[in-house]
Amino acid sequence: MSAQTMEQLVSLCKRRGFIFPGSAIYGGLQGTYDYGPLGVELKNNLKLAWWRANVWEREDMEGIDAAILMNKLTWRYSGHEETFVDPMVDCRSCKLRWRADQITGKCPNCGSTELTEPRPFNLMFKTAVGPVPDAESFTYLRPETAQGIFVNFKHVLDSTARKLPFGIAQIGKAFRNEITPRNFIFRVREFEQMEIEFFVKPGEDEAWHTKWVEDRIAWWQSVGLSRGNLEPYHQKPEELAHYAKATVDLLYRFPHGLEELEGIANRTDFDLGSHSKDQGALGLTAKANPNAHSTERLTYYDPDAKQHVVPFVIEPSAGVDRGVLAILSEGYAEEQVKPPPPERLAAVSDALGAFLKSVAKSEKLKAETKDALRVEGERIGGALAEQLPMVTALLAMPGADTIELAKKLRGQAEPVVDEFYRTVLHLKPAVAPIKVAVFPLKKNQPEIVATAKRIRKQLQASAAMRTVYDDTAAIGKLYRRQDEIGTPFCITVDFDTIGQGKDAAQKDTVTVRDRDSMAQERVAVGELESYLRERMR
Ligand code: ATP
Repeated sequence: MSAQTMEQLVSLCKRRGFIFPGSAIYGGLQGTYDYGPLGVELKNNLKLAWWRANVWEREDMEGIDAAILMNKLTWRYSGHEETFVDPMVDCRSCKLRWRADQITGKCPNCGSTELTEPRPFNLMFKTAVGPVPDAESFTYLRPETAQGIFVNFKHVLDSTARKLPFGIAQIGKAFRNEITPRNFIFRVREFEQMEIEFFVKPGEDEAWHTKWVEDRIAWWQSVGLSRGNLEPYHQKPEELAHYAKATVDLLYRFPHGLEELEGIANRTDFDLGSHSKDQGALGLTAKANPNAHSTERLTYYDPDAKQHVVPFVIEPSAGVDRGVLAILSEGYAEEQVKPPPPERLAAVSDALGAFLKSVAKSEKLKAETKDALRVEGERIGGALAEQLPMVTALLAMPGADTIELAKKLRGQAEPVVDEFYRTVLHLKPAVAPIKVAVFPLKKNQPEIVATAKRIRKQLQASAAMRTVYDDTAAIGKLYRRQDEIGTPFCITVDFDTIGQGKDAAQKDTVTVRDRDSMAQERVAVGELESYLRERMR
């Protein structure tokens, strides 16, 4: 399982309404994506699962939702104004800008080695505040949610009477003017974070850090990621941010490579210390940013030691969008349902060969684009029976749409894919956008239709399972559509259900089909809710 290429995911997301490029009708806005009808459900489910596990199910956590716009002094004392910069280089030839640490001396666009010296580039978006534009009336869109937690540390402490250790959790938007947004929703300019600042007594920080790394790996597994695709990476001393005592990057095997999904840092007393007044009196261990404006000492009174301390903080910081991408990638599969006849395979093979010949001859395409299409096309052709569904992703690759024979290839491949293969998202029920789909076997049989609609309404209302009704195609096709969006269960209402079938004993029962095994079971309508609940656990 798992997606083989990003194109497969991009294509599914667009086709089925998970994720669209932002502002597409105006030519787009680079680094932005919009979540469609299914994407918003998946994303909400992921955030709810995180909130449930980290806030509701723990005894040592509170949640907040701070403003995106904050007093700009926040960003001075957090250190972002000074240090939230990436070194960047410009290509003198094609004028594109790249992050110096992400390229190897060569422009990824045009291949030129004529690059400028690296220069710092601040990643925060500046925005005007208030009606009079003067030099001081600005702030930044927050580049992380964490600072909203630090500035509210005292509020939460005073209003909840918490004792250490305890944490504050927040989910919200963050904005970074990334130099090179790429890899779909992996690196974007507007994204969401799920962040925890977990406050502990100094000295207990290392044990808590280790524990949080384990907890976070276990949580990602609980929402469907396999342990084999997750890799904790312990940053080396020379890689650590200046305030961090230790950082573990939790890497995930995305279609484009092994990259960061979440960072879990031991940030010592740097953050609370930097946002505090009277810093000299606090006994800070970190080299905090000298603060001339804060009105509060962000300390905790330790009743056992009878003294004020600045807590250390462990920060598990995850990206929602990267989480969505990981979950989609992990669950994605293209599976053969039954073997296609040899003559139909041969016809696709011929069309693929003709397409690749035409790519080779094309005068419109760059050599690199041609190469990418050829390599992928030959890979598919080499194991056509298994790889046939990959033709769709091939045809979505850059440049493919400029080839006239693409239409012919699509025309040959798609009917075979429709008939003999399925795309399926093996999602955990908790994150699946839709839990149950209900179909009438015959859409012109009023009693069957009414029963199906009644079942849908009931499951939605009393079981609070996102349930949809669909009668716009034949049952087989409806199953495939739900497989493709990860719906764990489909229910079909037929003549037996309404007591007009061959077997009177089947009255008031329906067929329940399982997405993963495709197995079907007969279940009494009255027991549907408990049956589904049990199966989804
Ligand atoms: P990277 O090194 O990939 O730029 P980072 O180390 O700067 O990431 P953090 O500042 O630790 O990232 O942010 C915490 C989390 O927020 C990341 O693990 C990631 O999941 C998410 N995140 C950060 N930047 C982006 C972005 N531009 N697009 C999507 N998610 C992001």
